Amino acid sequence: MIYADNAATTKLDKEAFESMKSYFQNEYANASQLYSFSKVCRTAIKESREIIGKSINSKASEVIITSGGTESDNWAIRGFVDNHYGKSCRIITSVIEHHAILNVCETMKRYDATVDILDVNHKGEIELDTLKTALESEQEMPTLVSIMMANNEIGTIQNIKELCKITHEYGALFHTDAVQVVGHLPIDVCELNVDLLSASAHKFNGPKGIGFLFVKDGVQLDSIILGGAQEAGRRAGTENVAGIVGMAIALERNVNNLSKNVEHIKSVEKCFFDYLNETDINYIRNGSENTLPGNISVSFLDAEGEMLLHRLDLKGICISTGSACDSVNTQISHVIKAIGVNDKYAKGTIRISFGRENTKKEAIEIVDQLVKILKK
Ligand code: PLP
Repeated sequence: MIYADNAATTKLDKEAFESMKSYFQNEYANASQLYSFSKVCRTAIKESREIIGKSINSKASEVIITSGGTESDNWAIRGFVDNHYGKSCRIITSVIEHHAILNVCETMKRYDATVDILDVNHKGEIELDTLKTALESEQEMPTLVSIMMANNEIGTIQNIKELCKITHEYGALFHTDAVQVVGHLPIDVCELNVDLLSASAHKFNGPKGIGFLFVKDGVQLDSIILGGAQEAGRRAGTENVAGIVGMAIALERNVNNLSKNVEHIKSVEKCFFDYLNETDINYIRNGSENTLPGNISVSFLDAEGEMLLHRLDLKGICISTGSACDSVNTQISHVIKAIGVNDKYAKGTIRISFGRENTKKEAIEIVDQLVKILKK
């Protein structure tokens, strides 16, 4: 099998897996209990939080564990709106966000929140003036801006530092969905100056069902998961110790090998395009020049993305038609629509996302198979 859908999920890192094992069978205590059996788990969580904090240059106490990217995104939006209960508030987001943001924003309208959705240019970038214009109106309303760091379907990386700076100039808060970036490119929350940042372990070779939300000290966010006093009273639920430990080890290992991984993934990506360009296949690449390494969104003329996916699957190749989270939806994705891909190409869009385990040989094999299918 050739797995080239790393933007959907990644293979669990071996060392992360090893580090998790003892927490299932031996150190299975509830981390919140008072007896000494729980202490190992409590210490493991504390150390993991420190590792995670270090990897994004935040304090450990600013890292709140969640069940993954969806919960982190939901929490950022909903927690802000709940915090302004009874008053009007505003969310500004973009048309190409993941549905973990877009759908919760839609729901927030029921709670009297104003939601403004910014357009992007044909590369999928939010232009600084577009955000400025939006912030200029309704300045009296408490506002949260939520813009993803990199898009999961086309890989476009946003100018988060500048977007965040502008947001702060208007007294608003800034959240970024960094699910596709954490563990893949360097992130320094102090330098970016973001208030909230979402991450998900399974996107950086960690386990599924675990992630975190960075909440800058002093940022007011209501809890959305209510119950016990875990996570300093901010997010209830018995701690998933194995998941937390696995997430921290996976992140630490990816961050320690970041430049090596990026260089390798870029070389696989280059090999894919060099080889594809030797053929006479008619295609366009979507996204900007500043794109996530290995995230390849290509649209083939007069093709069917879903047909390509199934035909490649028959050859043991896993790719995606767009967002994996959207695989039931066979229509042209909201991202491809938003960047205005011509109809003749839009339907023939696939996403190939290379990860650290992929090889150049696999890139060539994918092109070979694509060419065979497209020529038929
Ligand atoms: N945000 C982005 C940009 C994503 O790509 C995804 C998953 O594909 C999510 C959020 C949701 O993350 P999770 O699968 O951890 O819930």
